[in-house]
Amino acid sequence: MEYQKKYEMILINPYAGVNFDIPNLGLTYAATILNCKIIDLNTKPRPKNRYLKIKSDIIGISVQSRTYSQAKQIAQKYKKKYPGAKVKSVSGIINVQCCYPYIEFEDKIEINIPFSDQLPFPDYQLLDSFIIFQKNWNKGRWDYPIMTSQGCPYQCIYCVSRNTRYLTRSPENCYEELKIAKEKWDIKSFSILDDCFNVDKKRVVKFCELIRNLKLSWSCANGLRADRFDEELAQLLKDSGCSHISFGIESIDDDVLNIIKKGETSVDIERAVLIAKKYFKSVNGFFIIGLPGSSFEKDLKSLIWAKKIGINAHFSYYVPFDKGMQYDYLFYGENAKPVADTYSKHLQKKIYKMTYSMRPHKISLIEKILKKIKGLIR
Ligand code: SF4
Repeated sequence: MEYQKKYEMILINPYAGVNFDIPNLGLTYAATILNCKIIDLNTKPRPKNRYLKIKSDIIGISVQSRTYSQAKQIAQKYKKKYPGAKVKSVSGIINVQCCYPYIEFEDKIEINIPFSDQLPFPDYQLLDSFIIFQKNWNKGRWDYPIMTSQGCPYQCIYCVSRNTRYLTRSPENCYEELKIAKEKWDIKSFSILDDCFNVDKKRVVKFCELIRNLKLSWSCANGLRADRFDEELAQLLKDSGCSHISFGIESIDDDVLNIIKKGETSVDIERAVLIAKKYFKSVNGFFIIGLPGSSFEKDLKSLIWAKKIGINAHFSYYVPFDKGMQYDYLFYGENAKPVADTYSKHLQKKIYKMTYSMRPHKISLIEKILKKIKGLIR
């Protein structure tokens, strides 16, 4: 399929302060289709105002709920410097990435190609941060990202992907993208960013059978559903190179699971985790602090359960939709804060702090130096 360049434009990915190792997929698809460059302020934050040096008729900004004020600031600065320029948001193709929805300005660039095999493979070379990605993919430090499906038929009340149209790419199409990425950039690993990768077991089976030949290590960045996980799937995932596995657990309390419409019980979750532990060295669980019906004691119970069963627990804060739409709320990462009123915010913070060591976080300079010294001694 051929896409024509229609505008003289640049696209901008605002600084999010989190997930600097994951490119903005929605924006990269848009840039690939429109054939234009991306100024990526998240992975390459400096020089901060470099987009102001580029004169363009149109700038398209990716606006996610976590970058809303950053996007507004960029728009204002650009308009001030280039009053004739059109400033738009970029949407379409992908609705949610890393649990944060894409949102729109009044004026928008909308791309209406359904999420399917019709999409071109995302051309990450269009990001001005590409060299950083390439280096880290090549060294095996960062995973190459891929979305094989988007949307989810389940109803979980806290999730922006709930009850959204489930759209897929064929396993063959995904395999082709990964094969090319391996040949071109010598990637060592990849990570699946689907909202819920194991909705359709047959698809997962086919995908695993195909990618096994690539001999890449891989993982699912977002949690799998425990009730759709079994021994056969565990074996297949492992044999195809999957090294880390995660479940979206949220809470281990059955009343909370019921209130949030998870459609799973603590028995389903424990069964899946015990199977996974037989096959994978590390098993992770995503939990949410302050869900409706929860309490400090119930969240603590989840944390104690995670420690006892031997999985890494990644806790995030629950952000109710009305608050999430007040933009810029981060529910994980260094700058995350509690916003739900389910119970005392001070106690929610306490749970979050208790799991600090289990969360991925930026390495400080001292930690980097220590790592280097350790490397030299070895
Ligand atoms: S199963 Fe996962 S992706 Fe689907 S609605 Fe629930 S939390 Fe969201």
